[in-house]
Amino acid sequence: MLFANNAAPILLIDPGRDGAIVDANPKAAAFYGHSREKLRSLHVWDINALGRSILPAMREIASWEGGHYPQRFHHRLADGSVRDVQVYAGPILLAGRKLLLCIIHDLTAVIEAEQFNRLLLENVQVGVCGIDRAGNFTFVNPVAVRALGFRHESELTRGHIGCFLTYSSPAPTDLPPDSRTAGSEGGAAALHPIFQVAETGQTARDIDATFLRSDGTPFPVRLTASPIRNHSGIVGVVVSFSDLTAEREQEAQASDLANALPGAIFQAELHPDGALRAGYFSSAATELFGLTPESELTAPSILIPLMSLKGWARIRRSLRRAGRDGKVWEGELEIGPADSRRWLLGRAQPRRRADGTLVFNGVLLDITERKILEAELQRAAMHDPLTGAWNRRRFQQALAEAEARAERYGRPYVLALIDIDHFKRFNDTHGHQAGDDALRLVAGTLSARLRRSDALARWGGEEFALLLPETELAAAGQVLENLRQAVASQQMECGSSITVSIGAGQCRAGEDTYGLLQRVDAALYRAKDAGRNRVELA
Ligand code: GH3
Ligand code: MG
Ligand code: MG
Repeated sequence: MLFANNAAPILLIDPGRDGAIVDANPKAAAFYGHSREKLRSLHVWDINALGRSILPAMREIASWEGGHYPQRFHHRLADGSVRDVQVYAGPILLAGRKLLLCIIHDLTAVIEAEQFNRLLLENVQVGVCGIDRAGNFTFVNPVAVRALGFRHESELTRGHIGCFLTYSSPAPTDLPPDSRTAGSEGGAAALHPIFQVAETGQTARDIDATFLRSDGTPFPVRLTASPIRNHSGIVGVVVSFSDLTAEREQEAQASDLANALPGAIFQAELHPDGALRAGYFSSAATELFGLTPESELTAPSILIPLMSLKGWARIRRSLRRAGRDGKVWEGELEIGPADSRRWLLGRAQPRRRADGTLVFNGVLLDITERKILEAELQRAAMHDPLTGAWNRRRFQQALAEAEARAERYGRPYVLALIDIDHFKRFNDTHGHQAGDDALRLVAGTLSARLRRSDALARWGGEEFALLLPETELAAAGQVLENLRQAVASQQMECGSSITVSIGAGQCRAGEDTYGLLQRVDAALYRAKDAGRNRVELA
């Protein structure tokens, strides 16, 4: 019999006898935890949480002709717990009595699941909303409510998602005018990805889109839209989205900073196997590297030829050292060919990944101008501006080095002083400008005939000093004689020529440069006294 074998608990109730339970099937006994006998001794108000106030409703249903009428109640079980139930109650006639047949459906699990879903939707950090196939909201979670510029979900549940999309939905005529036009360019209205999901049944993930707030301001979102199905097919779409406003602002801030920096930002990876890879370069790097804007900056084939192999090896070593010490790396990169060499200053913070890779985030600055200026300053600090020869200060350094070498290793060196003859007269005759030209000519003539290791300096007004390292006096005498002749044989623009007198001496054991200078100076005087245009050895 249906009553006895039914899978659902069934109660038979007599509304005429104070709601007495006339009978119950075994399933009902199992559900309520009372024996069937016990159930037959109870009234409906013993198990319904409403108590006796349930009776008028029962009598009302009993007076109807037939059918089942579902209603939700709380029923109390034998153990005192309360369950959410749906009761399908319908009148039946049994042995001349009008009774109520009540089929009980336990909804506790369903309701708990509903509550769970609701809590889930309320507690996630993403906006979630459901729409039916026409685009009407069926549910909206609090995050979505706030993101769309509302205070309570009730303001939205009768709304249409089209009001918040920047391009048209599939039913433009149903939609408010602003959502119809915005964003749909060039004739045929594009179907918003959200509605494509309803058409295709395919979930669309990580779609970048723009939503509109209630006041019409657009904001960027990343959304995922999934179809909602029931037995009759796709009935709607659930859309989850994150408001990307803050993220985009951070990105914009980072790119503004990158643009405002006087150099390029980069990320480089030094792998445990020694491979050095550029992970990222900001666009300013194209200029630093002298590349076209289209160049793929991280392609190793582009970066490798910019530096010598030795240069790369040095950089790799210094990066590894910085990574090991956990200190900011700082290094100079010399890139490009010699005729268009550029210097970059790099600074980067190392960070070690779990796999041992060192990741460097940092900046590259173009310091070429500074380098050139430094080189010029250094040159100016060491050279005589008129003749380009070393100045006295730089020469004294070289002299001290030669002295130290002589002391330590007993290496010989020769010092010579070269003085232009009758230069005062030359100036008086040809003018100061011609005198300057003569000084340059003498410096040029001498330096053109010297070895790379020899050092020539302008010692004073028209006097030059010459250091010949690794040279014995006898050999130096020949060299100096050649120099004297070379100067004397030059014809100047003014038509006349010029001569020099030279005094020279080799450093003796235990002698300091001061002593040597005095001997050389004396030799120069002897050369002058002996008639000038000659070499005198000390
Ligand atoms: P001596 O043969 O004995 O060396 O005679 P001198 O005239 O060369 O020697 P003196 O020391 O009397 O004169 C050196 C002259 O060199 C004086 C100065 O006018 C000239 N002189 C020094 N420095 C410069 C310079 O930078 N440019 C020019 N044009 N002349 C200079
Ligand atoms: Mg002089
Ligand atoms: Mg002179």
